Amino acid sequence: MTIHNKFKLQNVINASEKMTILGVSRISDSVAAAQKEAGQSFFVMEELTKATGHYLADLIGAENATVLSSASAGIAQSTAAIIGKGDLYHVYHPFTDRITKREIVIPKGHNVDYGTGVQVMVELGGGKVIEAGWANKCTQADVEMEITENTAALLYIKSHHAVQKSILSVSEMVEVAKRNKLPLIVDAAAEEDLKKFYQMGADLVIYSGAKAIEAPSSALLLGKDQFIKWVQLQSKGIGRSMKIGKDNIVGLVTAIEEYVKNGLESKESQENRLQPFIQGLNEIEGIKATEVQDSAGREIYRASVRVSSDRKNALDLIQDLKNGETAVYTREYQANNGIIEFDVRSVSTDELHQIISKIRKIME
Ligand SMILES: *Cc1c(COP(=O)(O)O)cnc(C)c1O
Repeated sequence: MTIHNKFKLQNVINASEKMTILGVSRISDSVAAAQKEAGQSFFVMEELTKATGHYLADLIGAENATVLSSASAGIAQSTAAIIGKGDLYHVYHPFTDRITKREIVIPKGHNVDYGTGVQVMVELGGGKVIEAGWANKCTQADVEMEITENTAALLYIKSHHAVQKSILSVSEMVEVAKRNKLPLIVDAAAEEDLKKFYQMGADLVIYSGAKAIEAPSSALLLGKDQFIKWVQLQSKGIGRSMKIGKDNIVGLVTAIEEYVKNGLESKESQENRLQPFIQGLNEIEGIKATEVQDSAGREIYRASVRVSSDRKNALDLIQDLKNGETAVYTREYQANNGIIEFDVRSVSTDELHQIISKIRKIME
């Protein structure tokens, strides 16, 4: 009996992208095998944590690294680590009045909701969010005017969730951090480049394991050795409530090895799967499908489908696709303009055929 049958759950085809609400991504067989081996073995956990961290740091090119349960835990524990600086009293009393240097300066347009608010995670780590600039503008000067003797760190959210326009770049934020001798945390949760932000000079860089890396639920934290050690110390304090299992630690390491070796799915491979899909869709009345590149310029190619029928518009089709035994989730951002996008990176060839049949049934 499958999990879907046992709990009477809808089957889901994820043509939307790596969405947390759908379970993010699919792990490979070798990642599942690594999880199985780790889950059925014992380790001195402190050894496993340190050794896998050093291994990943060497693989990617950083002083040190550690595996955490989620990118959110990465924000909270990085904040706590930088405020506590390895002091065990702070680990046991994370919100103590004895420490006043708790301010985390962040561009206002970066204090976003990615499922929860960035501020919620900073506060969980005992930080006080200080927003710099305005919702749609933040310069180096805007950040610098918020820095006081109580500033503990700077935080930069590199994400499509954050405001992009008229906000300083990561390298400009690095300059501000260096000028003011402050640590810089970069949340790069969904980013694809594991080297860039560390090489630019960020002190701690956070990646969500299940997004680009397609690992089980986890996160990679890369950083300067001292900061990573302070983060690891949090497992005796707030980090305990964010513990990650041995199976997922080893699963993430395996997924990163594959990710570093194979990279992302190539344009050619995406197009080889997209072309027959687009052709199949174009045989359906009221549907006009074309290939489009990701609007942010990433190497992602998708099917863009214009719906023009008297009976069904794009919003109807999106809703009908979610009904029935197997739900198909799509990219809905342009639905008001009559367009639906299909991201095929997490969709198998068999599922692409299922999508075509389902749309044909709905439209005819
Ligand atoms: C997804 C995301 C997170 C949270 O990642 P989790 O691993 O799910 O906690 C944090 N920041 C940004 C910008 C994200 O996109």
